[in-house]
Amino acid sequence: MAIERTLSIIKPDAVAKNAIGQIVSRFEAAGLKIAAARLVQLSRAEAEQFYAVHSARPFFKDLVEFMISGPVFAQVLEGEGAILKNRDLMGATDPKKADKGTIRADFADSIDANAVHGSDAAETAAVEIAFFFPSLNVYAR
Ligand code: UDP
Repeated sequence: MAIERTLSIIKPDAVAKNAIGQIVSRFEAAGLKIAAARLVQLSRAEAEQFYAVHSARPFFKDLVEFMISGPVFAQVLEGEGAILKNRDLMGATDPKKADKGTIRADFADSIDANAVHGSDAAETAAVEIAFFFPSLNVYAR
C-alpha cells in the first residue's frame, strides 16, 4: 500500500475536553506519523470555505458555528494507507453508530460535535492539507 498523507482535525469539542494528546496517541499507536500540526482558531469565512461541499445541507450553519466555537488542532498524518486508516480510527460520523474503541465512540458527544474530521479521499486530502498547511506544497509531491 502507498504512503499517503491525510488531514485530521481535532474539533473544538475534543480540544475543549483536553483530549488532543489522547487522540494523537491513537494515530501514533496505529503507525501514522504527524507530518505537520497547528492549533488554529478558524474564522467564519474559513470554516464556510472548508465545509463548502456541505453548504446546501440543513446542518451547514450549525456546523460552521460549532467549528468556530473554539480552536481546532489540525494535523497532517502520514503513513501507509493513511486516509483509510484514519477513517477507521475515527469511526462513524454518528458516535452512536461508531464501533467500540474508535475515537468518535470514545470522545464524541453527538453527530454534530463529533470530535474529529478526516479527509475521505486522496483528492480531498490534497485540498484540505493545502487549506491548513499551504507551505507544504503537497500538490508537487
Ligand atoms: N454533520 C452534522 N449533522 C449531520 C451530518 C453531518 O452536523 O447530520 C457534520 C459532522 O460534524 C460531520 C460533518 O458534518 O463530521 C461532515 O459530514 P460528513 O458526512 O462528511 O461526515 P464525516 O466525513 O465527518 O464522517
